Amino acid sequence: MIETLGLEKTYGVRQALKNTTLTIEAGQVVVLAGPNGAGKSTLLKILATLARPTRGRVAVNRIEIPDGAMKARATIGYVGHQTLLYDELSIYENLRYYGRLYALGGLDARILEVSRQVGIDKRLDDTIRTLSRGYQQRVALARALLHNPRVLLFDEPWTGLDQNSSIVLTGLFEKARGDGATVLFSSHEFERSLVAADRALIMRNGRIIYDGARSEWTDAAGFAQLYAGRLAQAAEQADKRGGTAKKKA
Ligand code: ADP
Ligand code: MG
Repeated sequence: MIETLGLEKTYGVRQALKNTTLTIEAGQVVVLAGPNGAGKSTLLKILATLARPTRGRVAVNRIEIPDGAMKARATIGYVGHQTLLYDELSIYENLRYYGRLYALGGLDARILEVSRQVGIDKRLDDTIRTLSRGYQQRVALARALLHNPRVLLFDEPWTGLDQNSSIVLTGLFEKARGDGATVLFSSHEFERSLVAADRALIMRNGRIIYDGARSEWTDAAGFAQLYAGRLAQAAEQADKRGGTAKKKA
């Protein structure tokens, strides 16, 4: 479960996140859409305890962060833009290294389990450097799943994924939903991501300007239309307020 109240993040004079209040219940898979610079990665990083909020409250799995960051981290799986893997080590060595950081018991069995889940179990001895982008991303996903987190936070997980890896990712979301985990991921790829989501958020300029359930759009094309409409509307309102917001989404 994810809860934020009046969350804000400022970098110098730049407000990356403005007064954001959001609840995501366990068992929900939520897509975070929005143009570049909207604040998606900032929100995900704060939830992952990798960035500190400037103001407001955040709780992940009912643990307040940043105070309980260490405890919260044990319940969170995060995959960001970088895979954070050791290029010269094998898949197995990478997973073993992270498993030790989390002090996991029964590590070899767990490595095999998550490796099967993302379809890398036949390649555990391969060096990361020799893998395609899609397979590297699968290893990053396996690493994030290793400690059986209750909240999954993925930043643009579809980027660079081939068709098969994309199916793996969709399968992970379905399993997470079934297990009652919470998933929040950012994406530009409506075609692939919307199939997997129960709910969509649209961010613009540090704010959530749309929050709707799966029933509010018919398909990816329907969502793309809604997305364009909401962004245009928000830009118009910003212009009316005499802001400096750009028209272009
Ligand atoms: P998105 O992921 O939606 O593209 P980000 O969360 O990365 O958006 O960025 C939101 C805003 O915050 C942008 O204006 C970006 O330039 C700014 N920003 C993000 N991270 C930093 C940082 N570490 N230092 C300064 N500005 C940042
Ligand atoms: Mg981003």
